[in-house]
Amino acid sequence: MNKELLRNLPKVDELLKEEVVEKQLNVAMRTLVIDTLRETIEYYRNLILKDKIDSISKEKVLETFLNLIKKNNAPKLKKLVNATGTVIHTNLGRSLLSDTAVEAVINVSKNYNNLEYNIETGKRGLRYSHIEDIITKITGAEAAMVVNNNAAAVMLVLNTLCNGMEAIVSRGQLVEIGGSFRVPEVMKFSNAKLVEVGTTNRTHVYDYENNINENTGVLLKVHTSNFKILGFTEEVSIEDLVKLGEKNNIPTYEDIGSGVLIDYCKYGFTYEPTVQESVKKGIDVVSFSGDKMLGGPQAGIIVGKKVFIDRMKKNQLTRALRIDKMTLAALEATLRLYLDEKEAIDKIPTVNMLLSPKDEIKKKAISLKRRLKNKVSDFNFDIEEDFSMVGGGSMPTERIETYVLKVKSKVYTPEEIECKLRMNEIPIITRVYNNEVIMDLRTIFKKDFDDIVKAFSSIK
Ligand SMILES: *Cc1c(COP(=O)(O)O)cnc(C)c1O
Repeated sequence: MNKELLRNLPKVDELLKEEVVEKQLNVAMRTLVIDTLRETIEYYRNLILKDKIDSISKEKVLETFLNLIKKNNAPKLKKLVNATGTVIHTNLGRSLLSDTAVEAVINVSKNYNNLEYNIETGKRGLRYSHIEDIITKITGAEAAMVVNNNAAAVMLVLNTLCNGMEAIVSRGQLVEIGGSFRVPEVMKFSNAKLVEVGTTNRTHVYDYENNINENTGVLLKVHTSNFKILGFTEEVSIEDLVKLGEKNNIPTYEDIGSGVLIDYCKYGFTYEPTVQESVKKGIDVVSFSGDKMLGGPQAGIIVGKKVFIDRMKKNQLTRALRIDKMTLAALEATLRLYLDEKEAIDKIPTVNMLLSPKDEIKKKAISLKRRLKNKVSDFNFDIEEDFSMVGGGSMPTERIETYVLKVKSKVYTPEEIECKLRMNEIPIITRVYNNEVIMDLRTIFKKDFDDIVKAFSSIK
């Protein structure tokens, strides 16, 4: 160990007088600058203690400091480029908000607002009131309310309709959504007793019917949004479930998952049930996510018959699951766009990306390739046809035709490229498939091009 070097390690006070450090005091908090100086000195102390360096220069120390402060002063939750082609990428923030939704959030969060105030009466109002009309208008339901997310919605619905009672559900619909959402577990938390009927692949109306008794609280249908069983299968239709519920005076509830409000069949997608259809078929309560195919903020939307929705609004759980004003603002603005389907497709990023025409994606691929070719030399880019995914546990079997750039390099392995792009200051998230790095233009915006070119140019 070099004692001389240790003794010569610069001190915090000394470094604070350096011009580069003084400059940082203008962009970062003083405490953060000082902590980072300590971190820098500590880093070099360790190198010396481990005999890893035999000289130390102030320039090097200051360079390390600058790198560290840049990292320490940046937000931990930050933007990145989704080049995976998975549109509703749960790990990457699911749905992006439209411009109008973002404006609504800014406007409501920078100012006081009528969140729980009725302007006409001058008295206390309900936070759900602002959004109920637009939801019922779009879905055709009698009443609506919203909570923090769809998982919360499922809990609230079951706790309200089925507290201490039995919820009958098909064995084939006891799904795990991923993370920590499993239908049987959520039922336990909401104090509903699970009665599973039928078999994994086939459930009939009589399976439900044979299990109805005076303790039955709800007939539940869970849309198996994130997987498909093929072959010899049978599910009870909503119509039949509704009939059975009415006959026995038991409420019916469907957890539909994704919140599809547009008929995607028209645009060449495989059939996916819409919220409007379920409501029309007479189901008592339907719940769905705000940030899956709906393309809004994280939220759980509950629609249905007024008698049931009113009971949910009064449930004590609601207070714990309640939706925030920023979310409400974003959700209202997003839903407004659905009043005109064309507007929704144009302006809601999730919907827009899902329905982007192939030739538009190809144009983007050509343009990005041209920009990259002019700037970076260690890589080659091939434009190829491929498939994008919907993501977010929605439409798992849908393969959407797209165009991708395949990245080739004689200098770097695919894993190295993937890693270096991911570790970029603005991370570029690609996918590696069959030993190739793939960038899908469906989820890449033109405004991302600069960041991508910069990321490739800085690969060393
Ligand atoms: C996604 C999903 C949920 C959970 O919704 P979040 O909004 O993510 O909480 C619940 N049920 C189904 C069927 C889903 O697809």
